[in-house]
Amino acid sequence: MKPLKRRNTPGIIRRDFLCVPLCPLWLRFLVPLLIFMLASTACSKGSSSTPAENANATPSAAVSEPKATDAAPADTGPLPQIDSKRAFQYIKEIVAFGTRPMGSENHKKVESYITSHLKGDQVEDDAFTADTVEGKFPVRNIIAKYPGTKDGIIVILGHYDTNYPLRNIGFVGANDGGSSSAILLEYANHLRGKKRDGYNVWLVWTDGEEAVRQWSATDSLYGSRHLAEKWEKDDTLKKIKALFVMDMIGDADLNIEKETNAPPWLTDLVYEAAERGGVQSHFYARAAAIEDDHLPFVKRGVPSIDIIDLDYGYNNVFHHTAQDTLDKLSPRSLEIVGNTTLEAIRMLDRR
Ligand SMILES: [Zn+2]
Repeated sequence: MKPLKRRNTPGIIRRDFLCVPLCPLWLRFLVPLLIFMLASTACSKGSSSTPAENANATPSAAVSEPKATDAAPADTGPLPQIDSKRAFQYIKEIVAFGTRPMGSENHKKVESYITSHLKGDQVEDDAFTADTVEGKFPVRNIIAKYPGTKDGIIVILGHYDTNYPLRNIGFVGANDGGSSSAILLEYANHLRGKKRDGYNVWLVWTDGEEAVRQWSATDSLYGSRHLAEKWEKDDTLKKIKALFVMDMIGDADLNIEKETNAPPWLTDLVYEAAERGGVQSHFYARAAAIEDDHLPFVKRGVPSIDIIDLDYGYNNVFHHTAQDTLDKLSPRSLEIVGNTTLEAIRMLDRR
């Protein structure tokens, strides 16, 4: 699962391959010595080891150990820690509005709820009208930007609308819509107030993620499709180092999928972040390609990953049902996903 470290194989020479047991005894010592001297000379030209490293290294280590140019330096700082109780409280308050599909009064209440928590932050709207098979709907992506010292942007998306076809069955989407909105609010708390020592981080509460009738390429992802197009036109996409989607991350029985639209380096990075927190057993038991808010960005070449648990109840039985309620969720799951994502971002900052 973890990425294999690259090794400098050309520097390794097998002595027994060059000097068979039939050699006279003196030759058995002389030949390896000559080979070692040649190898040392060759490596001093191509090796990126510093003189100090060579002085401390044994001869064999000097030729076989790589200089890991693509790895982050050793991490000694404390792991990021979200306030999972506060994040869980946000879900409670969002669920209390009731069902929140596009175009509804409750949807407007959640919009105000989100923006009221972002007072003083740099907030932008990406608002437009979606023309759908169920008619026209106002769609509003809410974007909050937190500046960093490094050139480049890391984006975290999470949808806040609830399923439109289920609007009449009392669907409240505690996990599907609630957990994603809430964890982004908690990320905002974490990012607010100080310039980041790293990339700029943009949080996006996406709208219209759900289909209005039947999921298809044209009936789904209304908000993220619009935003990806917009960011392609104004060249924002070129600045995005990585994009994370949070979706259905509150399930008490947490199993984050290994989402195969993501580039392997990003999948590995998230796993490594999970390992640092000792929570990797909640990641990647299953692999699947999932259509979610990251897809419009994947299609445009943005390195994107969907952090999603699509095994919500046995056989995903609670997904898109009236049983998607608060009692199925746990603050601990928000903590696992939240801390892992923030750690993954910190690792990106240091690359
Ligand atoms: Zn859904």
